[in-house]
Amino acid sequence: MIRLALRLDDPSATSNQDIEWRILESLSRHRLRATFAVIPFRGTTEAPLPLTRERARVMRESFAAGVLDVALHGHAHRDTNPDGHPSEFAGIPAARQRELIAAGKALLEAVFEQPIRGFVPPWNSFDTATLDALEQAGFSHLSANMGLAPMRPTSLRLLPLTCHLPEIKAAIEEARRFARLEPVVTVVMHHYDFPGGESAVFASFDEFDALLAWVAAQADVHVQTLSELAGELTPAASQRGFRHQCLRDRLPWRFRHWLPNLCMATRPLLLP
Ligand SMILES: [Zn+2]
Repeated sequence: MIRLALRLDDPSATSNQDIEWRILESLSRHRLRATFAVIPFRGTTEAPLPLTRERARVMRESFAAGVLDVALHGHAHRDTNPDGHPSEFAGIPAARQRELIAAGKALLEAVFEQPIRGFVPPWNSFDTATLDALEQAGFSHLSANMGLAPMRPTSLRLLPLTCHLPEIKAAIEEARRFARLEPVVTVVMHHYDFPGGESAVFASFDEFDALLAWVAAQADVHVQTLSELAGELTPAASQRGFRHQCLRDRLPWRFRHWLPNLCMATRPLLLP
């Protein structure tokens, strides 16, 4: 069986709600679920623009209906490293990281009236102090591009993004080749992938709806939220994808197809 998670990044107090509503409507129509990585605060430090219950009404209804899972996407998605790889957390003092994460978690928990236990760092960027802060705040999982991460052993389940929306069919095909390794595909979407956005993947929302219909019709693909995946995977299984990725990057290119690229294998490569 192939497990697949859909993640939309960046819903916030100022994001395009029409796109979010259409995504949720399609998910609901095909009895699928997704995780939204929500930014708790927008605006500036002087004039923060927090997400409110009123503004999040559609997401709250989908959350209550079980269609939507919510993860914390940073604090204000503000770049604190303008001279290098953009980041909100990497290199920031540990106490400040703890403060930002605690404030964001508290806001989303007040809006959605449920514990929030998943974290998606803006620009996939974090450091070991972020891991400390997440573990201390009771998070269970972290979803990011692990290629950028300074890693250490962690109790967090690591659910790396494995592909973007245009690659979804190729990722499922690849996962079928690695079926015995219990692959997980984590598909990341952004508002700009949708009609009206800067790199629109679809000409219309009907096209997106048809893609979800196709996913729902694949008998060997089980769509889950990141929270559900985190509940099922052990930390070791969740870290295997990262190790395979490191190994893959060291192989000569012509051998790289031996290891998954668009999906993550959660079982060891050599089975007993
Ligand atoms: Zn983001």
